Amino acid sequence: SKEQWRRNVTQLKPYIPGKAIEDVKRDFGLAEITRLASNENPLGPSPKAVSAMLRALLDSQLYPESTCRELREKLASLYEMDQDQFLIGNGADNVISLIGTAYINDGDEIIYCTPTFPAYRTITLLLGGMPIELPLTGNLTFDLDRILDSITDRTKLIFICNPNNPTGTIVEKGRLEAFLQQVPPQVIVVLDEAYVEFIELEGYLTGVDFVKKGYPVIFVRTFSKLYGLAGTRVGYCGASHELLEPILAVREPFAVNRIAAAGATAALDDEEYKITILQENKREMVRLAKELQELGYALSDSHANFLFVDMKEDVVNLSNTLMREGILIRPCIAWGLPNHARITIGTAEQNDRLLTALRKTI
Ligand code: PMP
Repeated sequence: SKEQWRRNVTQLKPYIPGKAIEDVKRDFGLAEITRLASNENPLGPSPKAVSAMLRALLDSQLYPESTCRELREKLASLYEMDQDQFLIGNGADNVISLIGTAYINDGDEIIYCTPTFPAYRTITLLLGGMPIELPLTGNLTFDLDRILDSITDRTKLIFICNPNNPTGTIVEKGRLEAFLQQVPPQVIVVLDEAYVEFIELEGYLTGVDFVKKGYPVIFVRTFSKLYGLAGTRVGYCGASHELLEPILAVREPFAVNRIAAAGATAALDDEEYKITILQENKREMVRLAKELQELGYALSDSHANFLFVDMKEDVVNLSNTLMREGILIRPCIAWGLPNHARITIGTAEQNDRLLTALRKTI
């Protein structure tokens, strides 16, 4: 009902992800900021993507091709899918909103585990759905058994964030397919795979595999992480054409600008750069995790480009101390976790800066 919707919407608060960088610089008199709060790629985009964007600037007077056909063609060939199985949006955030808009109606139940990416809750409440929030398992992964037990006649969507933000953990190999086999066919499973490219387990199945196998799955991915294009805002989803159709009906025709589309398209071509990014991330993640453990902090098993760390003290205090030194980490306070931080893997130099600052606080 309208009343229920109003009550739901009043639960929403404006979401501002962290203090503005310019404000931090000004407030603390800093020249340089080490950004480890937003899971950006510290090495930036491929030079090929940058050149393509510069070229696209010259055509700025022209509307972009509405569906990003070239980008869809590239994705289709990369994943051996059909270009009609992709929808490109203004960041994965936009794609998640579109999926919600297409599928969530008044009173629908939307299941996911928490702590996780906050967008599932926001879009559910906004559209009059009922968020069914379950805890993560003991090892901080999505609790697929409890999700199955919570499915009712009103369940419309299940969101699974894999790797999960903020914990970096993934569902154990083999478990997702077993789960999909038990989900009733009228329920759609949305796999948020913003960080999926960082998973390095041999034979680990992802949304691409599940769509090809015919499961009712929509996978969501982004150019913000591995491809280092967070500032350009390009994300996409992949699904059967049948599941995609209602989403296509609610998308804006020109949500993705031509510069961003050109950058994302070219980024897909630079296989070598992708490998470099993955190697650097892996090497620095292993090193940072080890050093943080030696400092006495506890970590989850991350398969992404960030670490979820129990700092064993008031994390707001600690992150304010680090901020004064120009180092930004994400305190997990919005998730109700008073001692945990999510820390992006930076360059070797950035990570050293963090470690030096942390040693001073101990
Ligand atoms: N899903 C998850 C799990 C994320 O962590 C993020 C970004 N932090 C997004 C989606 C949104 O990504 P984008 O930048 O493409 O909007």
